[in-house]
Amino acid sequence: MPLYRDAAIVLRTHKLGEADRIVTMLTRGRGKVRAVAKGVRRTRSKFGARLEPGMVVDVQCYEGRNLDTITQAESLASYGDPISRDYQAWTAANAMLETCDRLTEEGEPALQQFVLLAGALSSLAGGTHEAALVLDSYLLRAMAIAGWAASFHDCARCGASGPHPAFNVGAGGTICPVCRPPGSAAPAPESMELLAALLSGDWACADASEPRHRREGSGLVAAYLQWHLERGVRSMRLVERT
Ligand SMILES: [Zn+2]
Repeated sequence: MPLYRDAAIVLRTHKLGEADRIVTMLTRGRGKVRAVAKGVRRTRSKFGARLEPGMVVDVQCYEGRNLDTITQAESLASYGDPISRDYQAWTAANAMLETCDRLTEEGEPALQQFVLLAGALSSLAGGTHEAALVLDSYLLRAMAIAGWAASFHDCARCGASGPHPAFNVGAGGTICPVCRPPGSAAPAPESMELLAALLSGDWACADASEPRHRREGSGLVAAYLQWHLERGVRSMRLVERT
């Protein structure tokens, strides 16, 4: 059986049988991989301790017909301690891992998603920016890589130069008065500026934002993510049925 080595971020794990665990991870070179880690739930498995969600590891696996098998895992970066000590960082990390899992497909290379997630986890552990801002920046960029880049300045539908006062998740972001569908939100201009800064990586601007604009921005990001994920999942189900 072919053997491979790759850097990987553990996205989630679940139990298999008495002592094994299935590890879903995003690898640098092979995209999302599901692999069995044998015997890791026995007491004091050092190997198992390296395969917890959020950990960055160098793994060696055997390719299997359905599932690969992890034979070695060396820690490359452990953000567990600083992240688990801070509840906000911990919930942000979990939301990032779950979103990454939903935005990637097994067997499809996802190098940009890997680099983005590794950077965001490192930033959370470093604590240089508020955890909620790191999360929203991660979500906006992960969706942009997935093909759902939101617009925060020009009209998402006709491209008319902004800023515009309305935002519509289904239309793809900021929307001009001509294109504006009913039920669009009318957020504060500062909230839109914050989201544009988080998408482009302008941290000086993002760190200087006010709490009320961060709250409003987070609400828009959550709505945008939910709309696209639900639609994405639904379109995949339709493909399966036909
Ligand atoms: Zn327009």
